[in-house]
Amino acid sequence: MKVKTSNGVMPLLLILLSSWMAPVLGQAQEMPIFDAHIHYSHRDWDTLSPQQALAILEKAGVRQALVSSTPDDGTLKLYQADAKRTIPFLRPYRTRDDMANWHSDPEVQTYVEERLKRGVYRGIGEFHLSAADADRPVVKRLAELAAKQQLFLHAHVDEVAVERLLTLYPEVRILWAHAGMSSPVKEVGRLLDRYPKLWVELALRVDVAPRGNLDLEWRTLFLRHPDRFMVGTDTWTTSRWESLVEEARVTRRWLGQLPRDVAEQIAYRNGERLFGRP
Ligand SMILES: [Zn+2]
Repeated sequence: MKVKTSNGVMPLLLILLSSWMAPVLGQAQEMPIFDAHIHYSHRDWDTLSPQQALAILEKAGVRQALVSSTPDDGTLKLYQADAKRTIPFLRPYRTRDDMANWHSDPEVQTYVEERLKRGVYRGIGEFHLSAADADRPVVKRLAELAAKQQLFLHAHVDEVAVERLLTLYPEVRILWAHAGMSSPVKEVGRLLDRYPKLWVELALRVDVAPRGNLDLEWRTLFLRHPDRFMVGTDTWTTSRWESLVEEARVTRRWLGQLPRDVAEQIAYRNGERLFGRP
């Protein structure tokens, strides 16, 4: 078949070809990602400059990322370098040593109150907490501030603790890290049914798509609550940054097994709706 470029045959052919190829190649390949779980912590700084970290996000197609870091200066470095891509969350850890006892340390409360005055943060977290500590005065105060300033709490907690937070602080929006990491899908669904201020991110939940195949129980839940989920990577160690591009590819692969509109919501539209488009 001869193709003449002068009479418009070629463009028409290209259009036909590309519309035919799109489903074959998987349109999800093109989908931008809102990554709801990124850290740029102290140990990353020597290996990756803010520009290099941002270049990785760009390469992975991460249009926006919810960033928190230990210490918080890492988040501010990324935010100063790219305020459109970076959604800053304030982590209540000055160093890793704060992880275990932040909920009972009045100095952490002062640190958080002071830093919130910058007015750039969209949430507090990611933090770790057990159900038994959910009503500690420091947690109560941070929840109060979150309610007043319309901030999310990004909580790495199990299903018991997340329900306790939702019950104790019903006015606060909670982003549940890792869907509780090992919480049963059924339990995630029950909590979403019951608590309208709960959102869930799926960082490190490999059970969503074992060997790349979307799990049926998760799929059913995504279809039931397509507006409540976000994806995430969790760069908790520098090597996670190195695999971020591959992680995004893996994520798009299972997203591609969902109806396009549901996949888009989970990939980036929910994040954009909650935190604003760049
Ligand atoms: Zn994390």
